Amino acid sequence: MAAGDDPGVTMLSDLASAGDAIARTSSKSEKVRILAQFLAVTDETELAQAARYFGGGVFPAGDHRTLQVGGAAFSAVLRAVSGADDATIRAAWRRHSDTGDVTGELLARADGRETAPISIRDLGREFAEIASARVAKERNAQLSALLGRVTPDEARYIAKLITGELRIGLREGLVEEAIAIAFGAPSDAVSRAVMLTGDLGEAALLARAGRLDDAAPHWFVPLRSMLATPVADAGEAVARLGKDVWVEDKYDGIRCQLHRRGSDTALYSRDLKNISAQFPEITAAAVHLHADVMLDGEILAFHDGRVMPFHALQTRLGRVSPDAEVMAAVPVIYVAWDVLRVDDEVLIDHPLRERRARLEALLVPHPLALAHLERVHGEAEIDRRFEDARARLNEGLLLKQPESPYTPGRRGLNWLKLKRPLDTLDVVVVGAEWGHGKRRGVLSDVTFAVRVDDTDDLATIGKAYTGLTDVEIAEMTALLLEITIADHGHYRTVEPRIVLEIAFDAVQFSARHKSGFALRFPRIARWRHDKAPTDIDTLSRVRDLANAIEHERVQLVDQTGA
Ligand code: AMP
Repeated sequence: MAAGDDPGVTMLSDLASAGDAIARTSSKSEKVRILAQFLAVTDETELAQAARYFGGGVFPAGDHRTLQVGGAAFSAVLRAVSGADDATIRAAWRRHSDTGDVTGELLARADGRETAPISIRDLGREFAEIASARVAKERNAQLSALLGRVTPDEARYIAKLITGELRIGLREGLVEEAIAIAFGAPSDAVSRAVMLTGDLGEAALLARAGRLDDAAPHWFVPLRSMLATPVADAGEAVARLGKDVWVEDKYDGIRCQLHRRGSDTALYSRDLKNISAQFPEITAAAVHLHADVMLDGEILAFHDGRVMPFHALQTRLGRVSPDAEVMAAVPVIYVAWDVLRVDDEVLIDHPLRERRARLEALLVPHPLALAHLERVHGEAEIDRRFEDARARLNEGLLLKQPESPYTPGRRGLNWLKLKRPLDTLDVVVVGAEWGHGKRRGVLSDVTFAVRVDDTDDLATIGKAYTGLTDVEIAEMTALLLEITIADHGHYRTVEPRIVLEIAFDAVQFSARHKSGFALRFPRIARWRHDKAPTDIDTLSRVRDLANAIEHERVQLVDQTGA
């Protein structure tokens, strides 16, 4: 039976019509209503796919397949299938600036194509085949055959899904609301299911079956990380958390969720990428844990019992897998502060107090370690802990509410971060760039330098574009134009006359700038009209700051060493 004859099948053209209707209205509630209506009548076998597609995804969460069709490959296939010449393609791009709309237009102009309707289920099969193609040629041939036989409207949505951008004004939250309305479920239960499973498709199926309470995290599908809210001081922390507060160092490494099940282990970064191959010593150690677990923590460079600065860890990043030399030069540890699941028990709703006890009971083997935890009472004790952390040149502290649940993806008020007051440097502006967006037409991005000790030489150390008011930016633009030495188009070299005070989080060694240093998160604290370029900070002060961070910073970790 042809797909279109089966009443239980939902066609891609239906999805496209619903998508277009959603795009046409700017009312969020109307968008949700249209999508809910569509999902409510979508066949069960296609519901998960449809929900995922409206979320802009193609495969389920944790499914590691990707289509691997880049922009250039897609354009080449489209050109061949549509037979359009360069001028036509350029004109279509000028009109739409959107791959989906360009695809729709070029195929609508193509003569003599025979089309046949395609169901959502069939499209799923086509995507699976494209993803499993071993070489680009095979992949392109499959895509070409697919685009060759679908209608322009269907092709428009296929292009949107391939590029991952639906552009119909639908955020994930609205898809969740639509699922809730379609199946008469509470929308917070749908959101929770999406948060736990990471998959709109699975949440839609659970909502349809009235089983949202069964939603649970899957092994090797990372949950989003719980985040911390900044506070100004201990007083504010106590006001939010109460007097009994748990305090941990704010480690400066990379956030990492560890999943271990039997002999399989995977590490996920904060943006949910699988980074296992970069840290083989951690995955190897995790196999020796006495239970299957999902842990939350941080990867740190660690040598001779001390945490090394972030820039040391950087040599381990961005490599597919490290060689023995790099592993020996920059050893790493995994510092865990939370456990989200042990065997079949999901712990995220249990209080931190209990999760920590479960974590300690795991007796993590080196190079796994536990975050050093102190249980403090009241403002004065937090202050003391904070002074200690500052003396150890730490970035700051994490303050946690011992009775709180783990809330994935939320910057809630149960985790607070208290940071060391920032250092600042006085620098001089040596270059400027035109800004973008609402900063178009002003020289808002400045490059700045410090003085090379006892000379007139300047060494660049960074760039900043935030911190000034619009009035100051306008004033500075006028001055920068006046003191321009060379105009390179988007960048201007300027006379070193404007002194700025720059705030930053840390100083790092870096080859990016002439000074040999770079600042983390630099922002303009003040325009120092009161200072002359001769008063600015020197390279040796920068070196002292960097060395202090390099040599004296101590972060505490507890190693249980099973
Ligand atoms: P932020 O990224 O500024 O929201 O700060 C939160 C980040 O601090 C997390 O993403 C972690 O990578 C990091 N962090 C460092 N130490 C801890 C800790 N003890 N508990 C939780 N997060 C921590």
